[in-house]
Amino acid sequence: MYYCINCQMLHEKSSSVRIFLTGFMTLPSHEKFPLGMCQCESNHAALKAVSNG
Ligand SMILES: [Zn+2]
Repeated sequence: MYYCINCQMLHEKSSSVRIFLTGFMTLPSHEKFPLGMCQCESNHAALKAVSNG
C-alpha cells in the first residue's frame, strides 16, 4: 500500500505507480506508508465525481 498524494488516500501498489523514496505518510493509527502518485487519470475523475456528490 502507498499514500497517493493525488487522491489523498491509500492505494494498492501497481506497476504504473510512482513511489517517492523520501516521503512517508503516518496515519493517526501510527501506520506508515510511502508517498506515491498514481497514474490513473480516469480513477481520479471517478473519485472526484464521487466526492462531489
Ligand atoms: Zn491516486
